[in-house]
Amino acid sequence: MTNGSAYPSRFLRFLGTAGARFTIMRQLRASGGLWLQLDEQAFSIDPGPGALVRICQAQPPLNTLDLSAILLTHRHIDHSTDLNVLVEAMTEGGFRRRGHVVLPADAVTPPCCYLLPYLREKVEALHLWEESPEISLSGGATVSAVRLTHHRVDCFGFVFRAPSISSVGLISDTRFEERWIDFYRSCPLLVVNMTLPHRCKGIDHLCPDDVSRIVGTLAPDLVILTHFGRSVLLAGPEKIASDLTRLGTRVIAARDGMVVDLETLEIRDLLSDAGPGGSFGNNSTLFLKEGLP
Ligand SMILES: [Zn+2]
Ligand SMILES: [Zn+2]
Repeated sequence: MTNGSAYPSRFLRFLGTAGARFTIMRQLRASGGLWLQLDEQAFSIDPGPGALVRICQAQPPLNTLDLSAILLTHRHIDHSTDLNVLVEAMTEGGFRRRGHVVLPADAVTPPCCYLLPYLREKVEALHLWEESPEISLSGGATVSAVRLTHHRVDCFGFVFRAPSISSVGLISDTRFEERWIDFYRSCPLLVVNMTLPHRCKGIDHLCPDDVSRIVGTLAPDLVILTHFGRSVLLAGPEKIASDLTRLGTRVIAARDGMVVDLETLEIRDLLSDAGPGGSFGNNSTLFLKEGLP
């Protein structure tokens, strides 16, 4: 970090917890994806609509110049809109060739052009997700991927590993399948995109029954639910998380701006530093609004 902030040295911050179109269109929750920081290096994961704004408005501050990699699990609009502006930020306006981008092949296979051609030339390394080998990023960090199944696009979950932190597993948008559960066995922390409150036939998203099976099989220390659809917000993410908690595994619902210390897995409450609704500063009442139409 480039400031004497209240952040832990290594943390994960939720720059949004919205999933699915109506939660995002109306910004019932923010949709900036995840920000993972390891000392001086930062990683943006699935920078959806408003990611750059959430980063620049965050309190305590986050710094786009810390970015060393941007990871896109799949090309859907709620995960990818701010990819290009963040690449431009990471490369210091395109003046410095630096940083990694990891994305699925179908995001850059013509006619798809989710990463603009002129920016491809600016990054130090462009990686396409594959199930192996693992991809090396800066600072000793690595990611290994597993293919998920999500509405006919290439979609990958991954495990992020780095010195001195618990491995972080991200289960992105997907239908439930036994096939990929074991991939996450080494992760004390699992972030799970749980967009539905109930299983919906033909919709490739996870629901609480799926999370229950994941928790029952893997028993991670901490599961953080995110990427909530409108029906999950109506049902109450905290209630769902509480019902899924069991001996040995704490399940919590992410809040916009929430910070997780990746060394201790403690949830850091920054509200006292930044006022009500806090971590996004003065606009938090707007960003955190829960009112539904
Ligand atoms: Zn999504
Ligand atoms: Zn999706």
